[in-house]
Amino acid sequence: MGGQKTFDVAVIGAGVFGAWTAWHLARRGQRVVLIDAYGPAHSRASSGGESRIIRMGYGADELYTRWSQRSLAQWKEFFAATRQPLFLETGVLWMAGDEDARLRQTSATLKRCGVTFEELDRAALEKRYPQIGLDGIKRGIFEPESGVLMARRAVGTVVEDSVRFGAEYRCAQVLRPMGSGRVHEVATSDGEKIAAGQFVFACGPWLGKIFPEVLGERIFPSRQEVFFFGIPAGDTRFAPPALPTWLFQEDLVYGMPDIEARGLKIAYDEHGERVDPDTQSRIVSPAMTEMVRKYVARRFPALRNAPIVETRVCQYENTSNGDFLIDRHPEMDNVWFAGGGSGHGFKHGPAIGEYVTGRILDGSAAEARFSLATKDTVQSRAVY
Ligand SMILES: Cc1cc2nc3c(=O)[nH]c(=O)nc-3n(C[C@H](O)[C@H](O)[C@H](O)COP(=O)(O)OP(=O)(O)OC[C@H]3O[C@@H](n4cnc5c(N)ncnc54)[C@H](O)[C@@H]3O)c2cc1C
Repeated sequence: MGGQKTFDVAVIGAGVFGAWTAWHLARRGQRVVLIDAYGPAHSRASSGGESRIIRMGYGADELYTRWSQRSLAQWKEFFAATRQPLFLETGVLWMAGDEDARLRQTSATLKRCGVTFEELDRAALEKRYPQIGLDGIKRGIFEPESGVLMARRAVGTVVEDSVRFGAEYRCAQVLRPMGSGRVHEVATSDGEKIAAGQFVFACGPWLGKIFPEVLGERIFPSRQEVFFFGIPAGDTRFAPPALPTWLFQEDLVYGMPDIEARGLKIAYDEHGERVDPDTQSRIVSPAMTEMVRKYVARRFPALRNAPIVETRVCQYENTSNGDFLIDRHPEMDNVWFAGGGSGHGFKHGPAIGEYVTGRILDGSAAEARFSLATKDTVQSRAVY
């Protein structure tokens, strides 16, 4: 290893988890190398694509409400400092019908956490959102200060800013570390060795491929299809502020208004089939296309015959119940996992980076829900 540079921390994976981890570590003066096989928030990454929702509502799950609050503050501060307006305060509207227990829990949690929100009954929803088909909907909650993060560009900006703070970014595929105890270096597929004191594997849906024995059965990458419907010419009813970001809770369907003129975004939050993030087809299926078309006709009648103007296929990187996985490797003392965003992790990037940094540098307390011990090999979703 004569003359080879040793980093304090090597972060493998430049999605939102790895980028924010590198950023916090670099801010704390650590010598950091951030490595990605394909590039920050690339088209196969879970952090790829145009936009992600940041909302405070998590039912009774106060942990994630508080993490969203903490993260939104950091995202805003970060975008102000970097002069990148990549958070759009569209507002977020939750809608529910008879099964509104979760909405009531959300309301109680938001009150407890001091989040600004409004409760809307059916009449108020009809008046304010005449462009929405409210069939079966009884009430809603509106978070006026929540909205949308411009995902791909936001991650790119976090990586650039980490480099400004001294982190080194490299494009390389890291091979799985072998053995047990302390790891001194990792190898890349082109034979380079990277030495560091700590290694953080923030590899999203790839975690199970890199650590098949420990995580192969504990990370469930699921296929998720996203559609954008073209808005009729000259029609402003589907753009903010007329239409906010919206979620039909019981239907597990969510979407966004017409942002940057890309059309109405819509997707099913239900988990699709298990997929390989390197090789899965990125072309939407006829079955899902049909389902989404029908749903749009029901909820946004004016878009009944609207053309699909863009599509994307992504994958969630689910843990058994939806809680993040942020913990040490069970046999490698200085190897960490940071992943398991489970379809809701993007918004939490800043708090995740801060948490991983605190665990590594300060030995700060571990959140039991993020431990490997709580991750099962059978899926039973509890976090939405
Ligand atoms: C369609 C869709 C909609 C979503 N909607 C929302 C939302 O509205 N709000 C929200 O908060 N969250 C949402 N999520 C979830 C969120 O986007 C993810 O939880 C989050 O982006 C995960 O980030 P990550 O950094 O863990 O993974 P990734 O972004 O996948 O990053 C992992 C990185 O590791 C790299 N890598 C893997 N293996 C190696 C290796 N061997 N060597 C080097 N590099 C490697 C990969 O190239 C990749 O770039 C959504 C996800 C999807 C797919």
